[in-house]
Amino acid sequence: MTVPALDLTADVLTLTRALVDVPSVSGTEEPLADAVEAALRGLGGLEVVRIGNCVLARTDLGRDTRVVLAGHLDTVPIADNVPSRLDTVDGEERLYGCGTSDMKAGDALMLRVAGLFGVPGAQPAHDLTFVFYDNEEVEAVKNGLGRVARELRGWLYGDLAILLEPTDGDVEGGCQGTMRVVLTVPGERAHSARSWLGRNAVHGAAPILAVLADYTAREVDIDGLHFREGLNAVRIEGGVAGNVVPDECRVTVNFRFAPDRDEDDAEAHVREVFADALAAGVTLEVTDMSGGALPGLSEPAAAAFVAAVGRPARAKLGWTDVARFAAFGIPAVNYGPGDPNQAHQRGEHVRVDRLQPAEDALVAYLTGTTTTTGDTA
Ligand SMILES: [Zn+2]
Repeated sequence: MTVPALDLTADVLTLTRALVDVPSVSGTEEPLADAVEAALRGLGGLEVVRIGNCVLARTDLGRDTRVVLAGHLDTVPIADNVPSRLDTVDGEERLYGCGTSDMKAGDALMLRVAGLFGVPGAQPAHDLTFVFYDNEEVEAVKNGLGRVARELRGWLYGDLAILLEPTDGDVEGGCQGTMRVVLTVPGERAHSARSWLGRNAVHGAAPILAVLADYTAREVDIDGLHFREGLNAVRIEGGVAGNVVPDECRVTVNFRFAPDRDEDDAEAHVREVFADALAAGVTLEVTDMSGGALPGLSEPAAAAFVAAVGRPARAKLGWTDVARFAAFGIPAVNYGPGDPNQAHQRGEHVRVDRLQPAEDALVAYLTGTTTTTGDTA
């Protein structure tokens, strides 16, 4: 595929369209990564590195602070929604297309910023690192940012990381952790006509479900953000045949935990919640664990960014790649012009009037023209 060169002096809407019009479903990002790499190299003021379909670029101006901007290049599968198209619906001008919200509008903002500050002689208030990565929308083992963290982790260091995932223009701090456990209830198999000879494992799951139904999830404020936890059965399996007393029942439970708990705390909490069941012979296996990320909004670089955006920050309740930065102790926020509710939908779109204000806030922050008490620039 020949991809037209990206013009980083074009406005953010034009640039968003250009990105959307190059399909980049997970695993097929190469042509788009090539175009991004060529555009960044062409600026002349950036050190540029490529691994796989990740494109990394940074300034080296000797600033005291460094801001990392990150975005994934891939999208979910196209659903007759490429190329992009503009339309006005309910009085809103919208750009439709796969990846508009999640997250090529964010990538376009990164490229705009690179176009402004990645040229010789530019004077951003912070040194800047740009991380464009692949395979975010698929299994975590393929995630390009994870690969950068393993192979080139120094490229991720900074005083603040901004992940330009869709947030509707709000700053979303940190993210919750998520773990899955499987509780296995033992029983004894028997013919259901002589059920007294067995022990029904599905019935044995009742106390577990009762605990979940009665569970009051914790709510906690961290750095001024409100996090709400959740503990939910997400799957239940059991039963052998229509005339057999089941000898096993498995309940999968998902715990979404606030980032003031680490993975060990989260597991300990779940074990405590199900202590009676565990004492009665139920076993618990952790099948999936991803730690959360503290918002870190009290750090000066992060506080200054929130001030620049000028809207109250919110807690990120889902898990996002900000956790990969938080694992290195780097404050990380989500901030992007897309609408998270639009992500992955056939009718995915981004509101055109969200694009320029998002760029203006980001550029104001990076030039240090916003005056705040917490600004280190
Ligand atoms: Zn995304």
